[in-house]
Amino acid sequence: MNDSILVTGGAGFLGSHLCQRLVHQGRDVLCVDNFYTGRRANIAPLLERRSFELIRHDVCFPLYLEVGQIYNMACPASPVHYQFDPVQTTKTSVHGAINMLGLAKRVKARILQASTSEVYGDPEVHPQPESYWGWVNPIGIRSCYDEGKRCAETLFFDYWRQHQLQIKVARIFNTYGPRMRADDGRVVSNFIVQALRGEPITIYGDGSQTRSFCYVDDLLDGLELLMASAPEFVGPVNLGNPVEFSMLELAELVLRLCGSRSKLSFHPLPGDDPKQRQPDIALASRSLGWQPKVSLADGLKETVAYFRSTLDHDLARS
Ligand code: NAD
Ligand code: UDP
Ligand code: UDP
Repeated sequence: MNDSILVTGGAGFLGSHLCQRLVHQGRDVLCVDNFYTGRRANIAPLLERRSFELIRHDVCFPLYLEVGQIYNMACPASPVHYQFDPVQTTKTSVHGAINMLGLAKRVKARILQASTSEVYGDPEVHPQPESYWGWVNPIGIRSCYDEGKRCAETLFFDYWRQHQLQIKVARIFNTYGPRMRADDGRVVSNFIVQALRGEPITIYGDGSQTRSFCYVDDLLDGLELLMASAPEFVGPVNLGNPVEFSMLELAELVLRLCGSRSKLSFHPLPGDDPKQRQPDIALASRSLGWQPKVSLADGLKETVAYFRSTLDHDLARS
């Protein structure tokens, strides 16, 4: 059996950390990315390794490779980026899933889908267990991502039932860490960059909406355990940190860790913005023995240190 691993979206935030881990474990890694939001810099240190190969390719088009495992991570994850070209976002989720499932079927590879808590929409059930079907607007500005990811889950389960593919579906909740882009647009990177630059902290709405934030290392532990789990365990399984924070609490913590005097500035809440989100991780804990270990304060310290060094570098170059 071919034991190399394909990571689609491998030059992105999560994908590049995953590629790095797998290469360091001695695995052969094929990274496929069209650089829509990903960056060469994220994988630059891996390019000189013989066990790492980069392929510039859009997963909306067929791809013929020989691999043993596939992590399907390709898709912009930040609302700012996935709403920039919403048709492309849906195509990436749906056509991308079809192509990667077709590839997995041909080479009999195990395939993991990076799904999302967005499949729950603006949830009426709190915290969200995997059995909850969600409350999703099919025609709103987040729908290209939410419905694209829901359709991808449908495809994964139909390939499993119809073609006996070895699938794994992870529903990832908000994850943050080093290598997020300064212009990513998600709340953690926005607040840190604003705090470090002394710019106003942009709170959308009144800041009472909640999210639970998982540090990248914890998330990757979960993805790897899921990929290695028994064939009958296919998910979907929630992976995220259940400790919930309001956006005002997050802003206060970021300001303290950055030693910043930035002021808060309030802006309108974007359409369909979920009011609260918190994973029920009982299934991951029971079936994978997985629990996040890194507190928000510790994870933010690492992330602040990353942005401090990259923003200093940007300033030095300008
Ligand atoms: P990211 O935007 O940093 O990475 C996505 C990567 O996919 C980028 O490198 C991008 O260039 C690539 N890509 C996009 N469209 C592509 C296409 N058509 N063909 C090939 N490559 C393409 O985002 P991320 O945070 O690293 O997210 C990775 C995956 O995890 C995504 O599928 C996302 O939906 C999922 N996810 C992430 C989070 C999170 O909080 N980070 C939460 C839920 C789900
Ligand atoms: N596909 C691919 N790589 C492969 C095998 C298939 O990209 O190694 C694509 C192929 O283009 C097809 C899709 O995956 O459109 C679904 O493949 P499947 O075999 O399920 O369907 P079919 O080819 O019968 O439409
Ligand atoms: N948000 C905010 N200020 C920002 C960016 C985001 O208050 O500069 C809010 C956003 O409205 C949402 C929460 O933070 O309620 C999380 O947003 P993000 O885009 O990080 O992720 P998602 O909404 O997909 O969970």
